[in-house]
Amino acid sequence: MSASAVRGCQEGKATPKFLEVKCPRCREAVEVFVYMGGSADKTGRTTADEKCPECGYVIPQGTPSERLVRY
Ligand SMILES: [Zn+2]
Repeated sequence: MSASAVRGCQEGKATPKFLEVKCPRCREAVEVFVYMGGSADKTGRTTADEKCPECGYVIPQGTPSERLVRY
């Protein structure tokens, strides 16, 4: 993605939103980013693999946020 695509109008773009969720394995807080807006196949899903700092469990990219527990 080029820099010019990042700045400018936000409409129609997927904007990552920061969320703190509980690790499904050990309940430690894990920081994830979830797409908000943009295409329907991406919105509400995690933008990248996020590893639990406590136990090393990986929440895979594309996990729907409704499957995760808010911290
Ligand atoms: Zn964990």
